Amino acid sequence: MTIVEARTPDPKKFIKGATGDWEIVIGMEVHAQVTSDAKLFSGASTAFGMEPNSNVSLVDAAMPGMLPVINEECVRQAIRTGLGLKAEINLKSVFDRKNYFYPDLPQGYQISQYKQPIVGEGTILLDMPDGQIEVGVERLHLEQDAGKSLHDQHPSMSFVDLNRSGVALMEIVSKPDLRSADEAKAYLTKLRTILRYLGTCDGNMDQGSMRADVNVSVRRPGEGFGTRCEIKNVNSIRFVGQAIDYEARRQVAILEDGGSIDQETRLFDAVKGETRSMRSKEEAHDYRYFPDPDLLPLEFSQAYVDDLAVHLPELPDDKKARFIKDYGLSDYDADILVVEKRSADFFEEVAGGRDAKLAANWVINELFGRLNKEGLELADSPVSAAQLGSIVDLIKGGTISGKIAKDLFEIVWSEDGDPAEIVEARGMKQVTDLGAIEALVDDIITANPDKVEQAKTKPGLLGWFVGQVMKASKGKANPQAVNDLLKAKIGLE
Ligand code: ADP
Ligand code: MG
Repeated sequence: MTIVEARTPDPKKFIKGATGDWEIVIGMEVHAQVTSDAKLFSGASTAFGMEPNSNVSLVDAAMPGMLPVINEECVRQAIRTGLGLKAEINLKSVFDRKNYFYPDLPQGYQISQYKQPIVGEGTILLDMPDGQIEVGVERLHLEQDAGKSLHDQHPSMSFVDLNRSGVALMEIVSKPDLRSADEAKAYLTKLRTILRYLGTCDGNMDQGSMRADVNVSVRRPGEGFGTRCEIKNVNSIRFVGQAIDYEARRQVAILEDGGSIDQETRLFDAVKGETRSMRSKEEAHDYRYFPDPDLLPLEFSQAYVDDLAVHLPELPDDKKARFIKDYGLSDYDADILVVEKRSADFFEEVAGGRDAKLAANWVINELFGRLNKEGLELADSPVSAAQLGSIVDLIKGGTISGKIAKDLFEIVWSEDGDPAEIVEARGMKQVTDLGAIEALVDDIITANPDKVEQAKTKPGLLGWFVGQVMKASKGKANPQAVNDLLKAKIGLE
């Protein structure tokens, strides 16, 4: 593989070693389970959490003479994913046998794609705090998952569960374009977001439907790539970050000690936060790849691809651009909202026909903040988009102040109900009656003649007066009116 480097080294990301700086280089191989009811080459179910060996057809168990039959839905999902990654789609691709022995692989080989994958080069954009970076996708290919060996069920026996055997996976291989644990985590997050928008993989890492092999090497800035280690099957985004940080430091320590890195496959031990050696790295020729004689090359027309392209949903980058353009949101707010399609949809429901920035503020700061605190998902939010929209309307229309709105939000959160009716029933309306506010302002001014004098030269004191009046009104006075009146009366105009 010839590698063209797209990135210039960024000193902020370097590891400071005893003998100078080191740059981390990371490339990821992500296995994403294709959203499909049936397996890649059999009709067996892909349902999660079933009784061991209950979702196994004769094909998945590799009974002699059984023939694989390609599941068209998996092909369709792989093409859609390729389109979502702005990648080139290969109208002809080939399934190969990757030969190895393992108890959970009854065929003695995995059907995968090697030289001619279904999807070629693409890109994923990452929005990092100091700017956008483009990460190259090398390829995406379809392959079967293996079964699972169970070692902890019995003190002296191991078992094999073939429920996953034959489940369709997309292996998505990045170029070695990532330069820090944060970038690697952002890459996985973005890839998962895209897959979920497309509906081609549910992205649930804790159920194993998305797993990452993380390739890590280090080098002196400006030099060629170093020898890499591959950390297999890391199953959470947080662990990916920890594994990279540990592994990069391990390699730096060896190199600074005058040693060299063995190219090997390693495992991440989440309990110890360490990586450890599993086996020396196998080479492609060890697998004796060859085209699977049971399967014809996979071919489809450009018209088929074009039709899938036309029906692709709006993807996160486009949605973000639209949120910024149409709703005037900040880059930061738009980023937060588009990570999950559900949040983006929720926001649009709240913002529809309203002050979008105010809506975004209430969705992100009040609602998401509160959900976070309670450890709840948006799907479980006690406050609906319609209720939040109505709170925004009450603020915007001047019926309640921002402060009262927070109290109202609390009531809706814990007691439910129509926000406008709650405001009416509990007398939470903002006082905009200037006469009433003026009386309060006069009281405060009369009671604090010294402060009034000071405020004339120290306008910062105005805030204190506003606070006093607001307090006296139990938060119900219109803060703008209070502000205006105080300024006029103290003579700060
Ligand atoms: P293989 O198929 O043998 O695992 P590939 O060349 O296809 O090897 O690369 C696998 C992954 O390793 C890719 O994601 C690639 O970006 C990454 N990679 C390749 N070279 C390096 C390197 N020197 N440091 C870190 N990652 C690398
Ligand atoms: Mg590999």
